[in-house]
Amino acid sequence: MEFEPVIGLEVHAQLLTQSKIFCSCSTRFGAPPNSNTCPVCLGLPGALPVLNRQAVAMAVRSGLALGCRINRKSLFARKNYFYPDLPKGYQISQYDLPLAAEGIATISLPADPSEPPSAAESKRFRINRIHLEDDAGKSIHDQGGTTQVNLNRTGTPLIEIVTEADFRSSGEAYEFLSFLRQVLLYLEVCDGNMEEGSLRCDANVSIRPVGAEAFGTKTEIKNLNSFRFVRRALDYEIERQKAVLLEGGRIIQETRLWNEQTQSTEAMRSKEEAHDYRYFPEPDLLPLVISQEWLDELQESIPELPDARKTRLEADYGLDESLAGLLTQTREFADYFETAARKAPPVKVANWMIGDLTRELKRDGREIADCPIAPHHLAELVELIDTGAISGKTAKDVFSRMYQSGEAPARIVEREGLRQISSEGELDSVVDRVLDANPDKVEQYRGGKEGLIGFFVGQVMRETGGQANPKLVNELLRGKLKAKS
Ligand code: ADP
Ligand code: ZN
Ligand code: MG
Repeated sequence: MEFEPVIGLEVHAQLLTQSKIFCSCSTRFGAPPNSNTCPVCLGLPGALPVLNRQAVAMAVRSGLALGCRINRKSLFARKNYFYPDLPKGYQISQYDLPLAAEGIATISLPADPSEPPSAAESKRFRINRIHLEDDAGKSIHDQGGTTQVNLNRTGTPLIEIVTEADFRSSGEAYEFLSFLRQVLLYLEVCDGNMEEGSLRCDANVSIRPVGAEAFGTKTEIKNLNSFRFVRRALDYEIERQKAVLLEGGRIIQETRLWNEQTQSTEAMRSKEEAHDYRYFPEPDLLPLVISQEWLDELQESIPELPDARKTRLEADYGLDESLAGLLTQTREFADYFETAARKAPPVKVANWMIGDLTRELKRDGREIADCPIAPHHLAELVELIDTGAISGKTAKDVFSRMYQSGEAPARIVEREGLRQISSEGELDSVVDRVLDANPDKVEQYRGGKEGLIGFFVGQVMRETGGQANPKLVNELLRGKLKAKS
């Protein structure tokens, strides 16, 4: 029997506000443990929450960017459970009426290598809802047998994005997560850092016989700290479920943890012993009402999103799809490109960026924002090559000096005397000298051994310390060798 996976994702994204969602404590990561706390986020009796307007704005913008309907009125609810990292004894979330619902993500999927080559396929994945909630603190279990808790994260604003179970492979789930992260980064509402927990994903998966309508029993996988883990964990879990069913067993609805060491999922708790959250309306917060005016303003503030930008770059700069895709990975990278491409041939600028520039940045673990080479300097370098002022080989050298010093390429070229000799006047005498010094080779060339052109070019390059423009040298040599015959 053949099975098909069915996958749905629940993604938590920390919003990049300065302060927490219901108090004015800082959200800065890495502050001394428990220093960013106050009576509200510590859940002390009598302390009342005040909703952070920025958090709402970011959540609404995320909803709009993901094609959701924004509910002009939404409600907060208490989700009750007991855990040491949750001092209030409940999480403030949204339940019946979330801030945003019914979104769509249209994603172009990379061609399946096992299928015949065709245009990249795009698929629509539905988003069920996006709601606002507060984050819990962090328990630290590896402190010599005891557990400690850091409540700095308690009350950090989160959005939870819940998808429909529309993914049919781990690869589709992976592509969606990459897409989502990219959109949140473009919106500047989340830093997307999975190691620091700013973006977290739980994956729900079941399998069903191919052709069946009804979903099978799902398991939920937690503890997925990178998109790669999500893919691996799903692949493992799909195979595990197949094996269970083929042996005549049944899948138990449970939460499982991904163990990176053993590369497997392990049962954590079954649904029978799972929490009964006893959701109820949050009495300390009024319904959240978004005015049409504010909604319009937030809609206006949505920047050009990755897909639109990619399409525009293809059209405006004559880039192919893959190049445009690479350039629009982040907003900053695309900005850099557009600044440089205004002053030099775009495709050449793009190739420098995804080649040498990316390699240097990666090696140093730097972001494009900290790139020592200013975009107009990269454009200047491309121009220097294009006009024949320096050779492609010299350009590599100039590029690494630019990267080290941040200097303008023209300055480096002048100071180091790297300018290519591109004037006929200057090269003429050198070419003559080389021909005069090798009468026998000239004879052989004229006798039909045209391969000797390489020898002559080499000699001229040596005489000029490698600075002659090879194309021009070639032309001059051929002209003279013909003229004398
Ligand atoms: P729960 O009540 O267990 O939280 P939800 O209905 O809220 O389940 O769904 C949570 C996530 O699980 C959603 O992303 C949803 O698409 C996905 N999901 C629900 N049922 C299944 C299933 N049978 N197989 C795979 N994913 C599922
Ligand atoms: Zn606080
Ligand atoms: Mg649920």
